[in-house]
Amino acid sequence: MPELPEVEALREFLTEHLTGQEIVRVLPVAISVLKTYDPPPAALEGRTVAAVHRHGKFLDVETDGGPRLVTHLARAGWLQWKDRLPDGVPRPGKGPLALRVALATGAGFDLTEAGTQKRLAVYVVTDPREVPGVARLGPDPLADDFDEARFAALLGGERRQLKGALRDQGLIAGIGNAYSDEILHAARMSPFKLAASLTPEETGALYAALRATLTEAVERSRGVAAGKLKAEKKGGLRVHGRTGEPCPVCGDTVREVSFSDSSLQYCPTCQTGGRPLADRRLSRLLK
Ligand SMILES: [Zn+2]
Repeated sequence: MPELPEVEALREFLTEHLTGQEIVRVLPVAISVLKTYDPPPAALEGRTVAAVHRHGKFLDVETDGGPRLVTHLARAGWLQWKDRLPDGVPRPGKGPLALRVALATGAGFDLTEAGTQKRLAVYVVTDPREVPGVARLGPDPLADDFDEARFAALLGGERRQLKGALRDQGLIAGIGNAYSDEILHAARMSPFKLAASLTPEETGALYAALRATLTEAVERSRGVAAGKLKAEKKGGLRVHGRTGEPCPVCGDTVREVSFSDSSLQYCPTCQTGGRPLADRRLSRLLK
């Protein structure tokens, strides 16, 4: 799933490729991809792209005097740029193509989604805050005013575990399953540690790890072509998705905790005093 660093790289890529270009066609292909009906997608046609913004993991294509196209790629969605779009109108079917945007130059992009769970969402709105997921976003962790005091205030009354808190888009925008694992590994903290239990020193360490991890990931992704971002993301991760591999910091074996629809990875030596965390799913199966 693309998270803040990848969506930021896509935003930069689209800023370069879309700004000043005229949209000639917007074609929803998957049945449920479009979450709004007024204004219709056709209201974007004939409009020139003025800017491309990011809100958390949402991309927002602003047009000159027209509506905006806002999208959330969800878990299995992606954006594929094409210097030359194929001729003809794509047919709705079982393929991954969810929505196509064509430019006057003949170039354009496809929003695609793999798998059977269709969660990729597109909104045509006059104001991005009309999108419920955008309206409820917490602050952007890479914003200039997101300082340690602000982070401490967010965590202060937080009763949840760090893993869940960091992933909550309403608390902080843009961090998902992969980068929450990476941030907690960099901060040497257990994913199950309670957010409100952090000392001021620990809050400072977590803040520094969060900023450094996301900044480094954005730097790595910057300038990488849209089609290569997924591989770039995977290559930069230290523990996420690396169960059984050695921790690059201490050499201990990276372990995981599985949940019904996801899993988290961590290093016992770096994060939990050498003790493996109970795998709830596994222990239930063994009963
Ligand atoms: Zn380690």
